[in-house]
Amino acid sequence: MSSAIVYLVGAGPGDPSLITLRGVECLQRADVVVYDYLANEQLLNHASAEAERIYAGKIGGRHNQDQKEINSLLVEKARQGKVVVRLKGGDPFVFGRGGEECEALSEAGIPFEVVPGVTAAIGAAAYAGIPLTHRDFTTSVAFVTGQEGKDKDESAIDWDRLSLGGGTVVFYMGITTLRRNMLRMIQHGRSASTPVALVRWATTACQQVLTGTIADIADLAEEAGFKPPAVTIVGEVVTLREKLRWYDSRPLCGRKIIVTRAAEQAGEFSAKLAARGATVLECPTIRLVEPESWQLLDVSIKELSGYDWLILTSGNAVRFFFQRLEALGLDARALAGCKVCAVGPKTAEAFKAFGVRADLIPSDYKAEGVVAEFARLDLQGARILFPRVDKAREIIPCELRRMGAHVDGPVAYRNILPDRLSAEALFALEKRSVDCITFTSSSTVKNLAAMLGEELLVDMLKGVAVASIGPITSKTCRDLGLKVDIEPAEYTLNALTAALEAHFG
Ligand code: SAH
Repeated sequence: MSSAIVYLVGAGPGDPSLITLRGVECLQRADVVVYDYLANEQLLNHASAEAERIYAGKIGGRHNQDQKEINSLLVEKARQGKVVVRLKGGDPFVFGRGGEECEALSEAGIPFEVVPGVTAAIGAAAYAGIPLTHRDFTTSVAFVTGQEGKDKDESAIDWDRLSLGGGTVVFYMGITTLRRNMLRMIQHGRSASTPVALVRWATTACQQVLTGTIADIADLAEEAGFKPPAVTIVGEVVTLREKLRWYDSRPLCGRKIIVTRAAEQAGEFSAKLAARGATVLECPTIRLVEPESWQLLDVSIKELSGYDWLILTSGNAVRFFFQRLEALGLDARALAGCKVCAVGPKTAEAFKAFGVRADLIPSDYKAEGVVAEFARLDLQGARILFPRVDKAREIIPCELRRMGAHVDGPVAYRNILPDRLSAEALFALEKRSVDCITFTSSSTVKNLAAMLGEELLVDMLKGVAVASIGPITSKTCRDLGLKVDIEPAEYTLNALTAALEAHFG
């Protein structure tokens, strides 16, 4: 039996996380995805690498001839036995010509399913902080096309009913016809002082909101050069935005921030920034890989019972250390007789994931802090294991040896240059559209300088705020000719995030 089917999937209004679970399932199953201009392209990542991706914008959009071509394409692909996803912006059945596509499929005898999506009006209302209905203002809402009647004098819209009665009205495709439609509402009895909001690229990082009244919104839009795609929300509920706006009032809203951490590590920091409204570009400048040889670390691990202390100064060191422990057939019990020092709370958390509680966390989360804590102990003759990254500073082994300890510092992992830098980040830097670049270790800066060259580094970061996690990283920045604009008092991602908020807020 053929598995051929066409899924008409609503992609949602823009934010790629606003698609439904069912929509994602369909994408994962697709052999072919036919997508629209308004569907966020990131959603295509849910489809398998082999799935054919066809941009329907190329073969048209609004016109009947092009729509027929899309209909035929869907029929043709399904007849080849394929699972086809027709990915449409917003909801397929709201001004999406999904009805016509279903009719064509039905006539051709091809099975189809419709997966609803968050339509632009709903997405725009939510992200602009405008409840479409509200007990104190209105109990009805209408979705209306702003294009209707463009070519004909007669309008099928009942302007009287739309204008009187006080219901909220949302126009789709109504920016080029804004002036005419607002005039019509006044002519048909709606008060000229009724509040209006235009919401462009709703639910995306580029969301723009312009507010006014029926009387002046067309002039305001013209002055601001306001362009489609946007919805026009008309009604008293628009006034609630002042109190209820949340999306575009987040502290980092509209800021483009580059995160340079290694790919495996960037996620946590990116998520913190995104939650505050930032657009994050991940541009890993570091790749973490195994040491060239495990020999020295293996010798130490096999003699773990002979050490008094294990010191690890990053979550990565913890992960590579335990990975090796496991590869040698051991687990946390091998640390039974050994005390453990973590450089800071994040490293301690990484230890915890392997069932080990840190005995010591310095109050100053860096090598100097570790040294200061150990200076209070009697280290004469103590044996200390300090597995570390290949380019680590020498301060911990040097100072602890001076205190009389015997320190072994085998390499647990290496920090190397990635093959290339993110094209998206480089492009944004070139376009001068980046607000801030973040460096969370000296290596992130050094590697970027190594890949771009120092001169280009300084040039590309002109006008970009430089944020560094702490004084060591800041010093590296300065040594490379960069000015540091943001540095938190505490060397943690949370503190860095707060410092970014303070800087841009
Ligand atoms: N099926 C879609 C609508 C397609 S018609 C849906 O359900 O949303 C195209 C119109 O939708 C645009 O002219 C604009 O008015 C609106 N639109 C789509 N995406 C939008 C967005 N992110 N922000 C504002 N308006 C949007």
